[in-house]
Amino acid sequence: MSTLHDEIQRRRTFAIISHPDAGKTTLTEKLLWFGGAIQMAGAVRARKAGKHATSDWMELEKQRGISVTSSVMQFPYRDCIINLLDTPGHDDFSEDTYRTLTAVDSAVMVIDSVNGVEAQTIKLLNVCRMRDTPIVTFVNKLDREGKAPIDLLDEIESVLGMQCAPVTWPIGMGKTFRGVYHLVNDTIAFFDPHAEKGTSEMIQGIDNPRLDELIGHQAAELRMDIELVRGASHTFDKEAYLSGKQTPVFFGSAVNNFGVQSLLDAVVDLSPTPLSRKTVTREVTPDEPKFTGFVFKIQANMDPKHRDRIAFVRVCSGKFERGMKLKHVAVDKQIAVNNAITFMAQDRNTTDEAYAGDIIGIPNHGTIKLGDTFTEGEDLKFTGIPSFAPEHFRRARLKNPLKMKQLQKGLQQLAEEGASQLFRPLASNDLILGAVGTLQFDVVAHRLEFEYGVDVAFESFDCSTARWLRGSDADLKSIADKYGYNVALDGAEDYVYLAPNRVNLAMAQERYPDIQFLETREIS
Ligand code: GDP
Repeated sequence: MSTLHDEIQRRRTFAIISHPDAGKTTLTEKLLWFGGAIQMAGAVRARKAGKHATSDWMELEKQRGISVTSSVMQFPYRDCIINLLDTPGHDDFSEDTYRTLTAVDSAVMVIDSVNGVEAQTIKLLNVCRMRDTPIVTFVNKLDREGKAPIDLLDEIESVLGMQCAPVTWPIGMGKTFRGVYHLVNDTIAFFDPHAEKGTSEMIQGIDNPRLDELIGHQAAELRMDIELVRGASHTFDKEAYLSGKQTPVFFGSAVNNFGVQSLLDAVVDLSPTPLSRKTVTREVTPDEPKFTGFVFKIQANMDPKHRDRIAFVRVCSGKFERGMKLKHVAVDKQIAVNNAITFMAQDRNTTDEAYAGDIIGIPNHGTIKLGDTFTEGEDLKFTGIPSFAPEHFRRARLKNPLKMKQLQKGLQQLAEEGASQLFRPLASNDLILGAVGTLQFDVVAHRLEFEYGVDVAFESFDCSTARWLRGSDADLKSIADKYGYNVALDGAEDYVYLAPNRVNLAMAQERYPDIQFLETREIS
């Protein structure tokens, strides 16, 4: 029988971060395939909502009820249990994408070899940096003519501020892509787009004459390249990786299955097992016998006939068993969790246990909120689950003014779920919505109409970002008096500065040097 310790040691919980179109969906699918969790390609792509127009997406959500299936993908690989958490991209990019990164122990960053480091990758990496999350890099699409590998590493180092330690190195690219050399194992995997697992042959040793036989003059080039690379780049340092300072880099082509297995092996061999988590009062270690966990995401059903929500709980310690009683600390209540969802790929609903690193979904009717903690009785509150500064803003305009109460209630509740944030400027009666991705506004409008009976229009609002304000009462009063239309209260009655543009933000910061302008706010 496995012990609690064994179960924790075999868990790896990670997410994939990338810019849209870098190949995250393709890679996810291939990882699941290598893990034996799916039989064929297409299974993940079919669920990818981002490629649909907004209206299709709404229909899609309605038809399939709560789309929890792709949120967490759990599968066994070697003797490990892998939890791959989905980070929605494309149109469905939202605060959930960011917050999911607070629930993982490591991340895989996919870089498109043609486009290099792109905007969304930078944003997601900044979120990882808040907790120094270890990052494994996968440079994808080597079957296309992309940037020179050495330039890509330079770009990652300079733009993302992380050392790169190449673990594999590509042999050619595009039409001349022949495979990768493994700098640590001294092996070469040859690229064969027609082979089932992307590779038809592996050989040992860079001086192996078989290398010359197979790739001719490219063999000499590779030997020269490797000499240069060994001299000019960092060697892999596990400590530096685990502290988020260095990223091991792998090259491949996800669509051709190539390099995917080395990546999955790296996740198993290098990535951390479930980590300790901070609470307000103490640190919780994963091998503590009693269950603890926190809510990092709430997903609501788009179908008005089914108002249930799923609270996604990251297990931090102990063991979860179906039917066990858990304390919902925020409301000081015991609940018997009989209907929790677990996410084992083959047999989704019957796995009855979960350990640190795993995710469970608890159905509820709105009583469970983002950031809430569950325990077996202890009063704990996990920290590190923030709200993120929105980048898109709208002013809500009611079509029927008599429905103001419902509107306020609806917006407040949707804000608590994390669908969008609500801001009320001090000098006006405006209700301003903020979101990280614009699809959220459609979601909010749709849900206000069907769940709260409120017909609302969204108008543009001149704001490009928000900052939470921390300072003395006198300073806060002074900034509120000066910029009343731009200083607002959020759903938790916290002061927020709504900045029309970056220049204006910099000026406000300069004028109030004693006030902190924060990009995130801890959910309380
Ligand atoms: P996502 O938006 O990051 O999820 O990206 P997708 O997985 O949907 O991939 C975007 C496009 O790139 C799709 O057309 C894929 O078929 C393609 N793609 C993915 N991996 C590779 C690759 O290794 N080589 C090439 N040439 N195309 C790829």
